[in-house]
Amino acid sequence: MSQATLDHPQTQDAAQVQSPLDLAMRLFESAADRLKLSENLREMLRTFTRILEVAVPIRMDSGAIRTFTGYRVQHSDARGPFKGGIRYHPEVTMDEVKALAMWMTWKCALVNIPFGGAKGGVVCDPREMSPTEIERLTRRFTSSIQPIIGPDQDIPAPDVNTNPQVMSWILDTYSMNTGRRALGCVTGKPITVGGTLGRLGATSMGLAETIAAAAKTLGMPLHEARIVIQGFGNVGSNLAAILHERGCRVIGVSDVNCALVNRSRLDVPALMRHVRETGTIQGFPEAEEVDREALLEIECDVLAPCALGSAINRTNADRVRTRILAEGANGPTTTIADRILREKGVFILPDILANAGGVTVSYFEWVQGIQSFFWTEEEVNSRLKGIMRTAYLETFAMAEREKIDMRSAAHMIGVRRVADAIETLGLYP
Ligand code: GLU
Repeated sequence: MSQATLDHPQTQDAAQVQSPLDLAMRLFESAADRLKLSENLREMLRTFTRILEVAVPIRMDSGAIRTFTGYRVQHSDARGPFKGGIRYHPEVTMDEVKALAMWMTWKCALVNIPFGGAKGGVVCDPREMSPTEIERLTRRFTSSIQPIIGPDQDIPAPDVNTNPQVMSWILDTYSMNTGRRALGCVTGKPITVGGTLGRLGATSMGLAETIAAAAKTLGMPLHEARIVIQGFGNVGSNLAAILHERGCRVIGVSDVNCALVNRSRLDVPALMRHVRETGTIQGFPEAEEVDREALLEIECDVLAPCALGSAINRTNADRVRTRILAEGANGPTTTIADRILREKGVFILPDILANAGGVTVSYFEWVQGIQSFFWTEEEVNSRLKGIMRTAYLETFAMAEREKIDMRSAAHMIGVRRVADAIETLGLYP
C-alpha cells in the first residue's frame, strides 16, 4: 500500500492524519497475520458485538433543550464482561469509539484481567457546559445505555474529560433505575461511594512502572532523565508528579491552552497547585511558554503523549527526539509515525501496554465492590505493579522471540488470548 493511502496526506490537519479505526484495524490484521488466525476467527474478532447510538436530549441552564449524540460500542466479551471508559469530547465519532473499544479488548487480554472491551462517548464540549448540564447529560446518557450495561454485562469507567464525579452520577442513575445499589456497575468512582484507593493515579502509576522497566532494558538511568508530557489531565499530571518524585526532570508539559518548558526542571508540585487554582498550566511563572506542536520535538529521554489520538503523525514524527515513547493516550501514534520512530530507534511502550494501569485498577475496584471488601492503597499499588511488570516482560519476551517491535508483540499476545477464549467457548447455538 502506498504511503499516500496509509496516512491520508491530503488532509492538512495533522490531527486527522489517519482515522483511529484504520489504525486499530491495521494493527489487528497484522497481529492476525502473524498468528496465522483462520479467516473465521479473524472475522469474529474484527466485528463488533453490539453498537448503540443514542440521542441525549437535555435541558440547558438557559432553558433551551439540546440533543447530543452518544455511543456505546461493545467489541468482544469473550474473556469477560465488556469494559471501557466513556469520553466527552466534541470530536467523538462512532468510528473512534469502535477503535477504542477494540483496543480495550486487547488491553484487558494483555494484562490478563477477565474483561472484554467496550467504549462509550458523547459528542459534546464539556468545557462549555456547566456542572449541572454535565450531570443531566450523564444521567440521561446512562439511562439510554442502561439496557446494555451492568456489573456482569458492561462496566463503564472514566476516559477523556470524565472523572470520578461523572462516575458517581452513573452509579446513582443506574441504582435509581434498577432499584438496587450495584457497586460493580461502574469503576473510577469516588472513594466515598465505593471507589478504590489508587484508581485516580492508576494509569500514571502503571505508565511509570513500564517506563522504569523500559529504562532498565535500555540500561538508561531514570534519575535526572528528561521527561516531556503532552496533556495535563488525570494521566499526564499524575505521571509528572510520580516521575518528579522519583528524581526525573520533567522539562516540558502541555495542555489544551499551551505548552511549557523549563530546561532544568519544572517544579511539578507548584505547577499542580497552579492548575488547581486556575484550571490550566498557562500562566505558570517558572517556565517558558512554547508552541504546543514544538513540545513534541524537544530532545528528551521519555516522551509521554497523554492527550488524544494521532498526536504523533507523519507531519512531526521525524522531528521527535526521544529514547522512549510511553503512550499514556490511546492511539497517539499513526501507522507511518510508528514506522518512522522505529527506524530512528525509539523504544515504544505501546498504549495497550503502557496505559493499562487504569483498567487494571478498575478491575480491582470491581472486585472490591462486588465483595464489599476494600483493600489498602499499598495492596492496590503492589498488585498493579506486579501485573504491569508481568505484562511488560511477556511483551518484551514476545518481541525478542518473534524479532518484532513491542506494539506488534503486545497485539499478538492480546489477540491470541481473545482468539483462544473464542475457540474454547465454541459457537452458540
Ligand atoms: N479509559 C481507560 C482506558 O482507556 C480506563 C478504562 C477502564 O478503567 O475501564 O484504558
